[in-house]
Amino acid sequence: MGILLRGPVIRTRALLLAGGRGSRLRPLTDTVPKCLVPIAGRPLLDYWLESLARAGIREALVNTHHLAQQVRRHLAGAGKESGVRLVESYEPELLGSAGTIRANRSWVDDADECLIVYADNFSEVDLGELLAFHRAHPEALTMMLFHAGDPKSCGIVELDDAGRVTSFVEKPEHPASDLANAGLYVASADAYREIADLDAFDLAHDVLPRFVGRMRGFPFAGYHRDVGSHEALARVNAYAVRRRRPAVFLDRDGTVVEHVHHLTEASKLRLVEGAAEAIRSLRLAGYCCVLVTNQSVVGRGLLSEEGLEAVHAELEARLAEHGARLDGLYYCPQAPRGDEAVAVEHPDRKPGPGMLLRAACELGLDLGASFMIGDSLSDALAGQSAGCRGNVLVKTGLAREDDAAHDAVDHVAADLPAAAAWILSLQEPRSVRRSK
Ligand SMILES: [Mg+2]
Repeated sequence: MGILLRGPVIRTRALLLAGGRGSRLRPLTDTVPKCLVPIAGRPLLDYWLESLARAGIREALVNTHHLAQQVRRHLAGAGKESGVRLVESYEPELLGSAGTIRANRSWVDDADECLIVYADNFSEVDLGELLAFHRAHPEALTMMLFHAGDPKSCGIVELDDAGRVTSFVEKPEHPASDLANAGLYVASADAYREIADLDAFDLAHDVLPRFVGRMRGFPFAGYHRDVGSHEALARVNAYAVRRRRPAVFLDRDGTVVEHVHHLTEASKLRLVEGAAEAIRSLRLAGYCCVLVTNQSVVGRGLLSEEGLEAVHAELEARLAEHGARLDGLYYCPQAPRGDEAVAVEHPDRKPGPGMLLRAACELGLDLGASFMIGDSLSDALAGQSAGCRGNVLVKTGLAREDDAAHDAVDHVAADLPAAAAWILSLQEPRSVRRSK
């Protein structure tokens, strides 16, 4: 009999510093809180919540001040979607980063460590890696570092051979290195309480110099930028728009919803069991989830496009009940002319790849890192023609005994949750390639 060895469970909480006014982003921030400024159409804060969820962090405190009501409304939905429990700490007067910690000293009472995030940065760091780094050294604090283009405008550190911070200077006249404070820290619960007890205002100015010799630097070579000015925001936005993301394309009938012959009424729509949770887990792993569905009911005159949109509104509402949503929804209204499943009769009608190719253009998707999940041969062929990395057949719809469909795919799964689990089990689920 084998012995299962488990390490101690480490309880991690997060603190998202999100109350800033964003003065340098006015007039945009007159009406949009800085933490909700859209990056490639998506609020900045949501990128952080996705990163937290991916690292397994389930509880975060968010301080609010400027346009707090808007942030509060956003937190309600975003918390549900990300699966991160969000607690708001409202500050009528801004307390400063260290002041927020002082005001929330008890936040780590039943935790081992706290991730402290300046949520007005945009970062591609894997927080799981940062936490693993922190846990592997004995120091109380880890400071993430990035290579600054303009060290004189940053907090600059020097490291010894062990990676220990041996000096930290804010905006140095003569920078000793280009390794700059990234505004992202991991503090042990004891270090967090020590900071809280200092009665300080600003982490960088008042607190970090006290931890020189007692903290390690985590140099991060990936993309990490402040979005504090209009110029910086434009650069980050352009980067995020160019970034190609992997997708999972989902057939609708027999895959996400139970197969109904010519579904024309929203009231007959039933989600496949576990479908919403599967979509949520794929999105948390970094995949865009895009529905691509042949809807010949429209071309056959059985349902108007307005009627189809009502069915899709119902589908999205059902998904939302489980905190899931789609990144895109494409349908082809063409009716078939023949009954040949492998014939491309219209570029958009599967097995034609048109919907997948259009989604790739419009949503910035990396097809070579994407998957197609469907219950028929035409789904698999559309995925192949679009150049997808893999095709999965699910057995919840029409495909149970369709040998040709079985032969055309990379994997056969019982249902959408099993298909998602297979995709998530593959290496490098976030194989993001970037266009130059
Ligand atoms: Mg189908």
